[in-house]
Amino acid sequence: MAQKIKVKNPIVEMDGDEMTRIIWQFIKDKLVYPFVEVELKYFDLGIRHRDDTDDNVTVEAANAIKEFGVGVKCATITPNASRVKEYSLKQQWKSPNGTIRSILDGTVFRKPIIIKNIPPAVRAWKKPIIIGRHAYGDIYKSAEMVIDGPGMAELVFTPAGGGGKRALAVHEFKGPGVVMGLHNTEKSIRSFAKACIQYSLSEKCDLWFGAKDTISKQYHGFFRDVFAKEVGKEKDAMEKAGVNYRYMLIDDAVAQVMKAEGGMLWACMNYDGDVMSDMVASGFGSLGLMTSVLVSPDGMFEYEAAHGTVMRHYYEHLKGNPTSTNSVALIFAWTGAIAKRGELDNTLDVIKFAHAVEDAVIRTIEGGIMTKDLMLIAEPKVAKYALTEEFIDAVAVRLKKVIG
Ligand code: NAP
Ligand code: MG
Repeated sequence: MAQKIKVKNPIVEMDGDEMTRIIWQFIKDKLVYPFVEVELKYFDLGIRHRDDTDDNVTVEAANAIKEFGVGVKCATITPNASRVKEYSLKQQWKSPNGTIRSILDGTVFRKPIIIKNIPPAVRAWKKPIIIGRHAYGDIYKSAEMVIDGPGMAELVFTPAGGGGKRALAVHEFKGPGVVMGLHNTEKSIRSFAKACIQYSLSEKCDLWFGAKDTISKQYHGFFRDVFAKEVGKEKDAMEKAGVNYRYMLIDDAVAQVMKAEGGMLWACMNYDGDVMSDMVASGFGSLGLMTSVLVSPDGMFEYEAAHGTVMRHYYEHLKGNPTSTNSVALIFAWTGAIAKRGELDNTLDVIKFAHAVEDAVIRTIEGGIMTKDLMLIAEPKVAKYALTEEFIDAVAVRLKKVIG
């Protein structure tokens, strides 16, 4: 075997739970360690270790990403009441992704992996449609009230330093109804816009942003203006990278997306991103093909798969039954992190290696070896599916042929 490729600076590694924890080890043993020499700053975010450390390990991992700039994360259990019982947890710890996101002040981008024999549901789609979702405010931090009879609903702002209150009539109710107050902050919208610009520059893809500023002249108009201002600041860099910015009405954006071939970052307000990311994910085929990266406004990157720990498959595995779990998004989390490390370190061979792994994955599937979720939608049809480990082995064999 050829000499191992050296990665200059460390990558922060966050281990996780259930089926994805098992796949994680396979990926390291079969696709990473045999080919590259890399210092991994390891944090075990598995539910037991989070519980043992009172979840401090999650905070430490987030701080390590801040220090080293690049992280890769396995899927983790976000405990609910039944998980607390299942693992005898001290408490219902918060979502690790939420904790990391708030420490890095980041935005999540979801990008599907395109494979020739896994056709998207929408014929026009040829390249990935990447969704950037603003993850703060709007209906997710709203105040709402059911109104049970006639009366006046008002919007009131009371300045902190004293001075005149501002009040606005929302609606004079003649009978029962419902009312909601939304908010967002300039700081959050600005950092969302910055992260989107960072990402589009890093991927060299066009940036779309859609809102409903014809109807919501102030609220949605505020988003549009903050975006326009941030884009204005990066005009030269965007021009140089060939990145175009388009602002559209959200309904126009939706219509355009269905006719576009893809290859753009679609920045979405919180609710639009929630809804549209599920539409795009199912349109591209499988959750196992959806990657996710958290980008902070100051340029830190954390890569993961968009799916969870695939609990149902894990329980089958525990019963001793064979599984056919798709490892593609998890593999691409690793290659995303390795390629970004190479880019930041200016080490071309490291970037090339990451791309070689991605290429091996895609060619393996195009060659007809794939897990069950893909077999069901592959075109042309394939006769059988690969088991979890068989698929990763097939990728490793192909990779060895190219660089071994
Ligand atoms: P999930 O792990 O995403 O799996 C839901 C279903 O989607 C699976 O049962 C499977 O369908 C299919 N699926 C997802 N990923 C797949 C893959 N790689 N290969 C093949 N099929 C795949 O969601 P969940 O079961 O609702 O959640 C399990 C745990 O994950 C929860 O504790 C949740 O808190 C956690 N979670 C973590 C993250 C994260 O860390 N980013 C995100 C979401 C959820 P079939 O059963 O039909 O085969
Ligand atoms: Mg959703």
